[in-house]
Amino acid sequence: MEEQGFFYRDTWAEVDLDRIKNNVKGIKGHLPEDVEFIAVVKANAYGHGDLQVAEAALEAGASMLAVAFMDEALALRNKGITAPILVLGASRPGDVNIAAEEGIILTVFQEEWLEKAQEALKKDAKLLLHIKIDTGMGRIGIRSASELKAVEKILEEDSRLLLHGIYTHFATADELDDSYFNRQLGLFKEMLSFLEKQPPFIHGSNSAAALMHPDARFNAVRVGIAMYGLAPSMEIAPELPVEIQEAFTLHSRIVHVKKLEKGEKVSYGATYEASEEIWVGTLPIGYADGWIRRLQGQEVLVDGKRSPIIGRICMDQCMVKLPYEVPVGTIATLIGSQGQEEISINEIASKLETINYEVPCIISSRVPRLYRQNGEVVDLNNSLL
Ligand SMILES: *Cc1c(COP(=O)(O)O)cnc(C)c1O
Repeated sequence: MEEQGFFYRDTWAEVDLDRIKNNVKGIKGHLPEDVEFIAVVKANAYGHGDLQVAEAALEAGASMLAVAFMDEALALRNKGITAPILVLGASRPGDVNIAAEEGIILTVFQEEWLEKAQEALKKDAKLLLHIKIDTGMGRIGIRSASELKAVEKILEEDSRLLLHGIYTHFATADELDDSYFNRQLGLFKEMLSFLEKQPPFIHGSNSAAALMHPDARFNAVRVGIAMYGLAPSMEIAPELPVEIQEAFTLHSRIVHVKKLEKGEKVSYGATYEASEEIWVGTLPIGYADGWIRRLQGQEVLVDGKRSPIIGRICMDQCMVKLPYEVPVGTIATLIGSQGQEEISINEIASKLETINYEVPCIISSRVPRLYRQNGEVVDLNNSLL
């Protein structure tokens, strides 16, 4: 954690690419060999960094990437990623030519969308498509056999359109009760039976289903959260068949240290009052970095000790009650471990009463990301993109 120097601020995140690769290999090792690993790198790879995670996942055996929006796919193409990329969300039919030119795979989720896409698509274009079936997520997707058959017919008759895959998405794969999951799985299989011809890629599973439901893997799985070392839910965390490790940590350095006397106050509203003589450190991280005000009271690690955030969190700074006087420049770990102590992403999620997915996503782009590979800091140049 010593060799930064390409940014001018004492707050940074570290993403451990070795852990991401190990997570991918571990999950892949748990799947049959003929099941393809689609690495989900939407939302800047859940806040970890799209290019770096995409490269790590591909190196570790992923054969395809998935993102939510075309912009995310284009950003990866612009950064030199040539692997297949599937856009999971709704793209605009008017944008299909860009997708075709860049070899980006789009999702067909409506007959009407497909007709508009046909109108917009150039004569000599070739567009790869996956059909999305809504089996109970209620988000996007085809819901009836008649619409599926109509879509298949259009695809068959238009040589510019190549049916490359079909998929669905489970709403409750991260719960131990599998009744709704099984209903969705049954519906998906039924929809598959209506197809004249099965496309090369058939997939349903997110991380939770890929790990917990071998019966739903078909020939590909779409893995996001588990690749980053996080359990899809606390309910299934103890049941996961592979060991995964969190890749994202967050650090800052104490920029100011002072002693407060009993009765002295801290931060906006002067709501915190020292009840005795205490040492206070100031950290250059605040709610504009995604370290939101709700995290008041959350502990950070200083010299291996848990130290609570006191007073209100400001836009760019916050204060912690130190265990004792420490030098300016001491590292404070907000997510990650120091010595025997660890603050996990799950601890932050629980403090925020949300899911672990949300935590790295909300750490804003103002926080530079450092990458570790083979234990060394690498890839400095791309971190601020
Ligand atoms: C985000 C997403 C995934 C990945 O889900 P995880 O729970 O992170 O593994 C898979 N499929 C679709 C359609 C998604 O939107």
